Amino acid sequence: MNFVILHVDVNNFYAACHTLFEPKLHEKSVVILSANDGNAIACSPHAKWLGIKRGTPSFDLLQWVEPFGITLFSASFPLYADMSRRIVETLAHFSPEIEYYSIDELFLKVPWESAEALGRLARQIRQRVLRWTGLCSSRIKLRTQASHFTCMREGFGRNEVVDWTISLF
Ligand SMILES: [Mg+2]
Repeated sequence: MNFVILHVDVNNFYAACHTLFEPKLHEKSVVILSANDGNAIACSPHAKWLGIKRGTPSFDLLQWVEPFGITLFSASFPLYADMSRRIVETLAHFSPEIEYYSIDELFLKVPWESAEALGRLARQIRQRVLRWTGLCSSRIKLRTQASHFTCMREGFGRNEVVDWTISLF
């Protein structure tokens, strides 16, 4: 059987973890501050549309809070770690071989049948992650050349890797 590696990436992970527990902030401008509240480390899409960038100092952000209704959160790394664990547990239902790449990005080794079957699987993964964790993972793609090293290091093997990217949705 042939296998391919899927790359699953959760959307706007830090901001999404906070808005999950404060639904009224869904689709609002949310900015996550570093551990010492010194600067922005993550932004919701709406905050990005306002032009707020990672690294912006907190004192510069304060001028945006009132006129644009921005909500600031201190980073909560235990929350992110817990949500990340839930994602891993969810994805474990789709593959016994998972590589943890970052707090919101994972690689899964899955069987290859056809592009259609892989697209169906990707949609199932996205729906399950959304239903079980409340987080959206719209970026699921076949892994690309850039991450070869990671997969090879984990013993997945070059022959099992497809070196092109297709749109799964
Ligand atoms: Mg992400």
